[in-house]
Amino acid sequence: MRLLLAEDDPLLGEGLKTALGREGYTVDWLKDGQQALQALTTEEYVAVILDLGLPNLDGHQILKKARAREVATPVLVLTARDGLCDKVTSLDMGADDYLSKPFEIEELFARIRALIRRSSGRSQPSLRYDDLLIDPATHQVSKKGKPVPLSNKEFSLLLYMLEHQGRPLSRSQLESQLYGWDQEVASNALQVHIHNLRKKLGKKLIKTVRGFGYMVP
Ligand code: CA
Repeated sequence: MRLLLAEDDPLLGEGLKTALGREGYTVDWLKDGQQALQALTTEEYVAVILDLGLPNLDGHQILKKARAREVATPVLVLTARDGLCDKVTSLDMGADDYLSKPFEIEELFARIRALIRRSSGRSQPSLRYDDLLIDPATHQVSKKGKPVPLSNKEFSLLLYMLEHQGRPLSRSQLESQLYGWDQEVASNALQVHIHNLRKKLGKKLIKTVRGFGYMVP
């Protein structure tokens, strides 16, 4: 589950990246508006956290340009506490939600989960697949009612694949969701995670799409 974080405040950015990473997200953090727009239009993200005051291109311009290019990625805007005008303008320019600074990290997590849920057309907070029950809020997975412990990466991969159920997903698409720009990836890392998920949750859960990648049928 790869997120784009566009925030030029080094302290806030670092804190958010760390906290979101611990929550199991892969975070690409950019401090420059122009670069953020570039990333948003070329890379695939499950959601974007967008600060409005960014150097070179502000958040509203990024939103406007990205939506004009038909980028459908859900966007959560970070605004100043009393920026009513900012909130209204952001929503009207295509933002999906906003959060006023300062905010509690738990609220940011919950809003991101809601954005991802809505963008995949789900109304239920938890996901059911066969005999599996997956709770994105607590990261708990159970099979036939019994809890199955997963690593952060395994959970993130499982959730992403379930959100894209029925669609073949390429290896590079899955790898980019698991690892951001600044992480070194072993060439068999994805295979290892898939192997573990099958072992823990059942062989039939993930189908290999020969020469391409994987899918949850
Ligand atoms: Ca700023």
